[in-house]
Amino acid sequence: MSENVCLACERGSEEIPLIVLEYQGAQFRICPQHLPVLIHDPTRLVGRLPGAEEMTPAEHHD
Ligand SMILES: [Zn+2]
Repeated sequence: MSENVCLACERGSEEIPLIVLEYQGAQFRICPQHLPVLIHDPTRLVGRLPGAEEMTPAEHHD
């Protein structure tokens, strides 16, 4: 996987602001547009974020 790009759309920080994540000792980046995917539908990141299949979506509390 190339580094310094969004996990989901693979855009770099020269195109879009990236949020740095730390997970299982490794760093990943995600853009604000795809942060909701990580929060609510992390299984969509399977194959991109190691262990994403183990993650459970956040529940809505609105
Ligand atoms: Zn993205």
